Amino acid sequence: KINLDVVQASIRNIPDFPKPGIQFKDVTTAFKQPELMQFIVKETANHYRDLGITRIVGVESRGFILGTALAYELNAGFVPVRKPGKLPAETYKQSYELEYGTDTLEMHTDALSSEDVVLIHDDLLATGGTVGATIDLVRKFGVKKIFVNFFVELDFLKGREKIDEQVPVWSLIHF
Ligand code: IMP
Repeated sequence: KINLDVVQASIRNIPDFPKPGIQFKDVTTAFKQPELMQFIVKETANHYRDLGITRIVGVESRGFILGTALAYELNAGFVPVRKPGKLPAETYKQSYELEYGTDTLEMHTDALSSEDVVLIHDDLLATGGTVGATIDLVRKFGVKKIFVNFFVELDFLKGREKIDEQVPVWSLIHF
């Protein structure tokens, strides 16, 4: 029987990746299992039904995996947030602070409209820098409402505290 404990136990821990001292949560060991994929997508989609969500905004690249499945399940469109230089048409750009230096995310300027109700999805919330920049990008479109979802949230890093309290955040799995 699949439940949240089974899903949580399926996520693999990789010590010292991508650098020493970091415990990386590897979600591929969850996604590769058909029954778990079904459960994860259905449970997450059920949380967001009847909210009128029109577009899923997925963050490169692991956010594309469940993001696409959620778009299908919620009858929404899918919009990618990408690393610099990947999107071919005109883009909005948003930089954010990393431990060392900065990074930038981009979206096509015609990807969303002021009529949209947006669900931002990424695989994992760590310090909150990535989702903060993504929210700033989505706000440039003046959309009606923004929700944020993660498959996994690392509670001990307190990334949630960095997210504007106007934006509802919900994660399926917590460590
Ligand atoms: P943040 O910006 O510090 O919240 O980091 C979140 C971003 O980094 C997300 O796009 C994640 O895909 C990625 N990330 C950080 N730590 C992990 C991890 O342990 N497993 C998988 N992805 C991670």
